[in-house]
Amino acid sequence: GLVRLHANELPWRQDADTSAGGLNRYPEPHPLELAARLAPLYGVAPECVLPGRGSDEAIDLLVRAWCRAGSDSVLICPPTFGMYGVCARIQGAGVLEVPLLRERGYALDIDGLLAACTPAVKLVFLCTPNNPTGNSVAARDILQLASALRGRALLVIDEAYADFSTAPSCATLLARHPGIVVLRTLSKAYALAGARCGVALADPEIIGLLRRIIPPYALTQQTIEVVERALEPAALRRTRERIAGIVAERARVAAALSALPGVLKVWPSDANFLLVEFDDPARALERTHAAGLLVRDLRRSPGLQHALRITIGSVEQNEHL
Ligand SMILES: *Cc1c(COP(=O)(O)O)cnc(C)c1O
Repeated sequence: GLVRLHANELPWRQDADTSAGGLNRYPEPHPLELAARLAPLYGVAPECVLPGRGSDEAIDLLVRAWCRAGSDSVLICPPTFGMYGVCARIQGAGVLEVPLLRERGYALDIDGLLAACTPAVKLVFLCTPNNPTGNSVAARDILQLASALRGRALLVIDEAYADFSTAPSCATLLARHPGIVVLRTLSKAYALAGARCGVALADPEIIGLLRRIIPPYALTQQTIEVVERALEPAALRRTRERIAGIVAERARVAAALSALPGVLKVWPSDANFLLVEFDDPARALERTHAAGLLVRDLRRSPGLQHALRITIGSVEQNEHL
């Protein structure tokens, strides 16, 4: 109820401001209320949650907090999400690669990974389900790594697509393995990519360190408000229905694509996209583009010369595809 004359804000709102809280005011520097509302969604305590501008921001914060430029490194398992390497290179950290094993369905190369984990490696990034291959990392591999890396490096598990999978979240491991960080996002299953909101879930000590380097006011008032509305029970029910719809469509599209001449392989997917290999991927790209569809060209990724990544859309969009 106090009148705010302490922050050099203006006392009136823009006509275009449709927010509940008023965009003339700074939002909370660290949105603790939002963290508290996100905590039950992921089954952790509020002090284990750091909301930020997408999981991309959490990746950046982790690299900056854990890797000294010029001496420390991150370890990644390609083909995988690009931002781990991008953030590491911006920070001046090394990027070690231990490729996933294609012949084993893009499983982790656990022995190779442990062998590559020199003392310079401070962060190991796993993505499950993995982008762009779609498969989940085996739970026993994650447990083995969490134990082996204890006290040596943080194990960062990116679960951007976990909402489309039946595998349990690694957030359940946090209590026993304080060296794990789990990344979740509202960009994919919650249909809020434009709002920019993701979270790091970790031991409170790790969250505390990240909170000290995240810029204040990282999340806008509009983002905070829309996420809070998306977490209300009716909205959550709707989200769950839509996820079930995407999962059903994923199976239908995979079967239909597999039956097409020219399709070499549709990889099994736990996410909302399919990795598809074509005998003539250039032609498949041309045809989809001519039909007004954008799909992801992966031909320049090592080992994926024949591959495109196709997002599952609405029933109508999938029919068109
Ligand atoms: C899309 C994606 C993200 C980025 O999520 P934001 O929360 O939108 O930053 C993170 N990780 C993976 C693997 C993704 O595919």
